[in-house]
Amino acid sequence: MKVMKFGGTSVGSIESLLNLRDIVKAESRPVLVVVSAMGGFTNQLLAMCEQAQQRDTSCLDTLEEARKRHHDAIDGVVIESMRDEVHATIDRFIDESLKPYYLALATNPKMPVDEIALVCDAIVAHGEILSSAIVAGMFEDGVPHLSLNYMRTVPDGTGRVLNWEETERLVKEDFASMNEGVHVAQGFISRDKETGAVTNLGRGGSDYTAAILAALLDAEALEIWTDVDGFMTADPRTHPDAVVIPQMTYAEAQRMCDAGAKVIYPPTIAPVAMKHIPVWVKNTFNPTAPGTVILDEE
Ligand code: ADP
Ligand code: ASP
Ligand code: MG
Repeated sequence: MKVMKFGGTSVGSIESLLNLRDIVKAESRPVLVVVSAMGGFTNQLLAMCEQAQQRDTSCLDTLEEARKRHHDAIDGVVIESMRDEVHATIDRFIDESLKPYYLALATNPKMPVDEIALVCDAIVAHGEILSSAIVAGMFEDGVPHLSLNYMRTVPDGTGRVLNWEETERLVKEDFASMNEGVHVAQGFISRDKETGAVTNLGRGGSDYTAAILAALLDAEALEIWTDVDGFMTADPRTHPDAVVIPQMTYAEAQRMCDAGAKVIYPPTIAPVAMKHIPVWVKNTFNPTAPGTVILDEE
């Protein structure tokens, strides 16, 4: 079984979602697809949190634009028999969850700071919840999972870390009978092990979710599908002369990630390196390009 993670740009438009569909359709089953929020939506959800706290209700207009973006994507990519259900899911999360959260922030000036943080964490999780509903609806044999049911974090200094023990127990339970379908899970999102509050693995954390699931489920490979042809010698946005590195070791990849190569979120490497699972970095917009493979040794 392979784990295939698709980032924000890879799920951000009808064109890219159709590429995703073709790439996943060509895979043998079962397969586990881990998705990010539609490109830019996580930033929008957080910006709307700021606006709501300033009592700026124009965030509700932005929310309507996001609703339309998701509905348009559904019309463009979801199989016909699933469309009504996925449209309804998107509306339910927006109307019964996101809107009340934003209104609570906008109308409650005395909300304590720690409660604001909890509400914003619950809000930001919706990016992946909405995109994954669309992706699961693209496949006749789509099987939705909810990462809030098994990814567990605990506080660590000022941040949080994964609780491996509890996550392993819950992942093995949730994926116990992994049938032949296209299993779809959200990257990034989690819950606090003790309180059950919605948390996350940090910005860019969907790569890490995919690596954790690959390690716990003994996947044969982890594929990171993104918007560049592979892991490159530098960020091609700032270094137009950067070239793809065909093969790297885990240690080399870890060094470059730690030095700021944002193509892979740094904590991603350790869990797959520990299990000797090869990592491929591939381009959703150019799937026949060979990409990069990250392995134990050259
Ligand atoms: P995704 O949404 O798919 O997770 P990211 O934006 O997080 O994508 O990561 C992909 C981006 O990482 C590329 O568009 C590229 O600009 C940037 N990047 C930075 N350093 C590198 C590198 N060494 N190799 C490839 N891409 C890099
Ligand atoms: N959607 C989250 C973010 O934008 C996680 C991810 O894309 O990896 O940070
Ligand atoms: Mg990323």
